[in-house]
Amino acid sequence: MFTENPICLVCVKSQTCLAKYVFSAKDRLHGVKSGLDAGTKFNIAPGAVKQNLVNHTKIITMSLEQQTDILIIGAGLAGLSAASDISSKNTQLNITIVDKGRGLGGRLAGRRIKDATFDHGAQFMTTRDTKFAAQVRQWIDEGVAEEWYSSFPGQSNSHARYRGKPTMTGIAKQLARGLNIKLSTTVTSVYASNNGWVTELYGGDKIFSRGLIITSPVPQTLALLASGNISLSLNNQERLQRIKYESCIAVMATLDQPSKISAPGALALSDGPIAWISDNQQKGVSKVPAVTIHASGDYSAEHFNDDRTFIGQQLVHLALPHLGAAVTDFQVHGWRYSKPITVDNSPCIMACESTDLPPLILAGDAFAGPRVEGAVLSGWAAAEAMLEHFSLNS
Ligand SMILES: Cc1cc2nc3c(=O)[nH]c(=O)nc-3n(C[C@H](O)[C@H](O)[C@H](O)COP(=O)(O)OP(=O)(O)OC[C@H]3O[C@@H](n4cnc5c(N)ncnc54)[C@H](O)[C@@H]3O)c2cc1C
Repeated sequence: MFTENPICLVCVKSQTCLAKYVFSAKDRLHGVKSGLDAGTKFNIAPGAVKQNLVNHTKIITMSLEQQTDILIIGAGLAGLSAASDISSKNTQLNITIVDKGRGLGGRLAGRRIKDATFDHGAQFMTTRDTKFAAQVRQWIDEGVAEEWYSSFPGQSNSHARYRGKPTMTGIAKQLARGLNIKLSTTVTSVYASNNGWVTELYGGDKIFSRGLIITSPVPQTLALLASGNISLSLNNQERLQRIKYESCIAVMATLDQPSKISAPGALALSDGPIAWISDNQQKGVSKVPAVTIHASGDYSAEHFNDDRTFIGQQLVHLALPHLGAAVTDFQVHGWRYSKPITVDNSPCIMACESTDLPPLILAGDAFAGPRVEGAVLSGWAAAEAMLEHFSLNS
């Protein structure tokens, strides 16, 4: 709870308003000068708004009641892993996750076209770290992951590739169990206030938190930090500026018959506009023939802003010789920040270090490795750093 300078957000009467909500005068509701104004803003009938303390409390509770110990921006694997780890180690801390997407998982993404189902973001996960390998074994036991393959034509005996069940988002859904997550909630800015963080959402609501973890791709994180004039140390600014991503255009195509792609249904191409084709039917994701085509980084960068239907047609045309089936329908998705091509060398950044900022941690696959495993390891590192901060300062 914030306790410094308690002040009512609506009437700004720190001495007399019993509501005494914990915001400084600069956080006062924009354009709200009275309980009636607040009633209009929050669609409360004028008759119900009497300018007394009870109503102020009610209005605040309806609109800006949102307070949490730790706010996490991003319900991808980094954000979900951070939240799940913190909540398993400290049940006293209240954690909220917000994500602008309609579904969980961020770049672990699934889509349907009629009866066809696609993994159109991350295709599989690999394990290098022993703790992450144990986590994948747990997901297998829980029925949300299985080994997809460990070799395919032209590449035998390589390390195991695991897939999520029934799709890659199955992992995200498992991690999200029991967590407080607000989807379709876009953060527009963040700024420091009263030893904590104010996170502004599209639509005007705000969430106050004592600690903040941001897991969006780094260019989006930098834009959020700039929106709140948050100055990081020069060293951290330089580290973040160095991180670069490649983009990826993904085509999801339904087929008139099973593809001729050999088992296990994965085709990695080293030359040309197409980098990857996976057969979602062979993979066990789709009941009907359906493939995901990923364009190469170079092709995606060159054509990212081109007409998506045209690009889809071009990629489908180039994929046809590998498919041995006709494409009956397709959709295109552009991943602007698909995978980091330069990463930081620590698993997360404690961005408040060497500043007077409240606890702020930046995490995601740009820190612990450009893949699913890296995102989870980074989330765990962020959880550890945040828990350490809270234990030192409680
Ligand atoms: C096409 C593609 C193929 C891939 N293939 C593989 C693969 O085969 N194997 C592998 O290991 N990895 C693969 N990856 C990489 C892997 O998906 C990522 O490394 C991992 O999912 C990143 O997780 P994250 O939590 O760091 O970020 P994300 O999953 O991107 O999560 C960040 C979240 O932040 C949210 N967000 C951003 N801005 C805001 C805002 N302003 N307000 C609210 N929410 C916001 C986003 O909606 C998103 O959900 C692939 C990625 C892509 C795109």
